[in-house]
Amino acid sequence: MAIARVEPLTTSRVLRGPFDYRLPSRFEAVDVGSVLVVPFGRWRVIGVVVELAERSEIDPSRLVEPVAALEAGAPPELVRLGLWVAREYCSTPARGLSLVLPPGAAGGRAARPALERRVRLMPAGAAALAGATALGPRQRAVLERLAEADGRAAPAGDLGGLARPETLRRLARRDLVSVEDVERRRVPSATPLGAAPGDVRLNRSQREAVGRVCAALDRSGGSPELLLHGVTGSGKTEVYLAAAAAALERGRGAIVLVPEIGLAPQTVHRFQARLGDRVAVLHSGLSAGERADEWRRLDRGDARVAVGPRSAIFAPVGALGLIVIDEEHETSYKQEGDPRYDAREVARKRAAEAHAVLVAGSATPRPESWAQLERIELEGRATGAALPEVEVLDMRDRPGAEGLLHERTIAALTDLRRQRGKAIVLAGRRGFAPHLVCRACGRGWTCPACDVSLVLHRPASLRCHHCGRAEPVPDACPDCGSVSIARVGAGTQQVQDALAAAADLPVVRLDSDAAGRRGAHAEILARFEREPAAILVGTQMVAKGHDFPDVVLGVVVDADATLRFADFRAEERTFALIAQLAGRSGRGDRPGRVLVQTLAPAARPIAAAARHDAPGFLASELERRRALRYPPFSHLARVELAAAAEATLDQAAAGLRDRLAELVAPEVQLLGPAPLHRRRGRHRRQLLLKGDERRQLVEPIRGALDAAGVAPGFRGVAVAADLDPQ
Ligand SMILES: [Zn+2]
Ligand SMILES: [Zn+2]
Repeated sequence: MAIARVEPLTTSRVLRGPFDYRLPSRFEAVDVGSVLVVPFGRWRVIGVVVELAERSEIDPSRLVEPVAALEAGAPPELVRLGLWVAREYCSTPARGLSLVLPPGAAGGRAARPALERRVRLMPAGAAALAGATALGPRQRAVLERLAEADGRAAPAGDLGGLARPETLRRLARRDLVSVEDVERRRVPSATPLGAAPGDVRLNRSQREAVGRVCAALDRSGGSPELLLHGVTGSGKTEVYLAAAAAALERGRGAIVLVPEIGLAPQTVHRFQARLGDRVAVLHSGLSAGERADEWRRLDRGDARVAVGPRSAIFAPVGALGLIVIDEEHETSYKQEGDPRYDAREVARKRAAEAHAVLVAGSATPRPESWAQLERIELEGRATGAALPEVEVLDMRDRPGAEGLLHERTIAALTDLRRQRGKAIVLAGRRGFAPHLVCRACGRGWTCPACDVSLVLHRPASLRCHHCGRAEPVPDACPDCGSVSIARVGAGTQQVQDALAAAADLPVVRLDSDAAGRRGAHAEILARFEREPAAILVGTQMVAKGHDFPDVVLGVVVDADATLRFADFRAEERTFALIAQLAGRSGRGDRPGRVLVQTLAPAARPIAAAARHDAPGFLASELERRRALRYPPFSHLARVELAAAAEATLDQAAAGLRDRLAELVAPEVQLLGPAPLHRRRGRHRRQLLLKGDERRQLVEPIRGALDAAGVAPGFRGVAVAADLDPQ
């Protein structure tokens, strides 16, 4: 007897699948990865077949049959990958499997192919036109139109108002025309931007890099992990393209991960331009139909290269030969919601299973990758252009808003108009001013639901960046009545004003306020590109990926902003941000210049970025991490609890801590519970674990979470684990 082991797609941690179902012969096409509708108690649920078996431990007479099977399913290797993600990130099988299913399938409605009705003139139809048969005027008009198509099938839509369904039906019944529904691919609209892709001759360094990747592709067994390191502008994308082409030549597929599609339109465009229809793009900006069609093209092998952000690591690419991770240092490779997977780690696992080559690339790689992957160096910039000169500007002893821009910064901005050049300016936070403070009594304004400062925005409002709450700007302090309220700090809007005042040039702002609407991001960049001389100001978004040849100046308004985060990655982030911004400057035929405003000119990441010294920075950063036992010399995990009622939360957190303490090995450090600031009115606590081995953390956390799922004290408490938190 055929048995399907089915994992139901329910979010509950309490249900322990998989469950056995009997497969009668009408389900003979069912395989691992098939999506079934199965009876489950009194309900019907969607489930995924994770295993096929000959017999069940349950009495066969008690087994029930599935109700139906969906047409779409996931390939078996992706089912294994989804279950692995669920285990490794302490999530549920249902959540892990949902990642690998065809779009819509988890909800039981896999998007169907779009059909187009096509009509073709038959010989009898041609004869009828010649007078052999009587025709109504509408019928004649349709046949005449079809006759113009020279025997080709015409889309019914092209026949305009003539092709009423009943007219076509009558004509088809008399064999005067044939009507068929064919699949029509919904093609995602590409957004070409920036430098046009052309035929590029690789330089010696790039050729060597491609050679290394090809050698790895030809090596049998194993799954080489390569780190492609080279300064921004060294031509890494050309290496990825050549590597993908090499994989295709060998009959193998490729996955190319980019940080965020909005930040990487140029990369996507270059892949499409070079490899054409063999490229499928997967991202959340697509319509459901486009996404389903792209998924299906990959699944059938019509497309062999998947390009997309982190979720594209689950693309159904068969005979996988290559996985590329572009800008591997980007935090967007980590998923925020459950399961909080890291696409870079999933990529390593998937490459290992498929014996595929992994190529991670960056100008500012993570210390982890620097230490663990086999390095390939790209020398200099592909165009031979020099790296921009980086000047560190000491901002100490500067009063208030007057000191927002250093006089050397102002001079450089003023010079842009004469040079007909552009500048990219990096400011810390969005909004106008991050804090309001009463000058008389010191009162601050915080979000009543989130315990964070409300940010002053223009047009006048106070906004919470966590929950989106907006309040009017106060005229006076509600505590002491003083009307003297200070605006502390400078957000992107204020920097925008200061720049406009200093430079008399168009200033274009790019942050999540400005780019919230779909398509707005590309519009803003297009506007910046059109201007002969202009300034682009914004949050970290502006430092990423764009390739504008006219940019001759980069400015970091407050280089210490990232250093102030209490996080062991603060140094790494600061270095990457400055180096990436430097990479945006001087990419054309003119030399670039970067000005870094800071209160800590001697700080290690700032000084190293000014010297363009990634190897030096990474070596010292790894030393520091080793001394402090931070990753990659240890593994971290975070367990976060959230609840509306604080007393319940504290009890749950203490209970979970005790449970974890019983489960972990003695050498694992367990810290907390520590309070986190509230979010959307919910109190939060965090437990932190640090261990030498990842599995020392994964197993105990999963055990503790599974137990918490059924414990009465956890009612109303949300618990989530985060392995390798960012
Ligand atoms: Zn006051
Ligand atoms: Zn809030």
